[in-house]
Amino acid sequence: MGKDLERQNVLLSELHKLVDRPMRLMVVCGTQNKAILKYGLREQLPEDLDLVAGPGCSVCVMPAGHIDAFVKIAMQPDVITASCEDLVNVPGSKDSLASAKERGAKVELITSPMDALDIARREPDHIVVYPAVGFEATAPSVAETILEAARLGVENFCVVPSIRLLPPTIDLLMMDPELNIRGLLCSDHINTISDTEAYTELAKKHKLSCYIASFEIVDIIEGLVSLVRQIRNDEFVFDDTSAFIYSSEDNRKARKMVSEVFFTVDTDWRGLGTIEKSGFVIRDELSLYDATKRFNVRFKEGQESCMCQCNRIISGRGLPPDCPAFGMVCSPESPIGPCMISDEGICHSYFKYHVQATRSSSH
Ligand code: SF4
Repeated sequence: MGKDLERQNVLLSELHKLVDRPMRLMVVCGTQNKAILKYGLREQLPEDLDLVAGPGCSVCVMPAGHIDAFVKIAMQPDVITASCEDLVNVPGSKDSLASAKERGAKVELITSPMDALDIARREPDHIVVYPAVGFEATAPSVAETILEAARLGVENFCVVPSIRLLPPTIDLLMMDPELNIRGLLCSDHINTISDTEAYTELAKKHKLSCYIASFEIVDIIEGLVSLVRQIRNDEFVFDDTSAFIYSSEDNRKARKMVSEVFFTVDTDWRGLGTIEKSGFVIRDELSLYDATKRFNVRFKEGQESCMCQCNRIISGRGLPPDCPAFGMVCSPESPIGPCMISDEGICHSYFKYHVQATRSSSH
């Protein structure tokens, strides 16, 4: 037996001993939810330990109105939209970036904002637009790219700012007493920019236990053990002792770049409405790099599928099988909502690792 597996088994047996009453924890991050399903961890947990998903999948929380803006800009002449793969199939009110491409828009797949800037430098006759989606951890790389474009004098590059901040949304969700969340498992990505004070405040305000873990399954189980221990001891703390520590110098630089480029505003979340100070927009001094200003496009309210229950699932109010469409008319082959479209979406992971695994083991 490998060392990791041995450690996992020890931690799991500790978890079974510790869970002595019903406890509900929120796994905020889509990648951690994916790891939990991939390793079949749900089936190995104590019966009284209830894990629900949180809003930490950036594509899943993208409202239709923002996709409509991406599509509107993508359809402008001489525009190349440089997008991450997960985003292109997310539906707006009518179109996605993928369907806009079928109608003639130029859409290229990239993996980082710097890739978009490279395309802009290669294609001086086009305006390259980067739809910036993600959470606070994404903001430094987008800010860095905008500052680099300004430094190089590249004027045919701009960004649609649609980055979200998780703490205000978690704060709002935790106000719902029916959710009855006792602990939060967060990903160590938040250490890149989100101030740990925000999570310390959340822990105190909502009497929550919080733990930061990596995406490794052994760290995730360790996080669950720590959360359960904290809950049993009535400790409402933000425990980041196991976090991947970014040097404070890197953190300082990242924060400086973000504050040079962005400021916070109220923003829309798919199915969750407008949440105060939960988004970033680009400062006026850098408006040349703001695609919404450059193309005079505003984010408007969009139309979302009334069948899709992603909003309930990403706010811990249900699991994918609670949605009547799950596995019936909605699957990774014919997805309806972003939680099934995105590789990090909980419906996608649940279908891929739970339903398909159950089906193949019963054959
Ligand atoms: S199963 Fe499909 S329709 Fe239902 S919540 Fe998930 S993505 Fe939406």
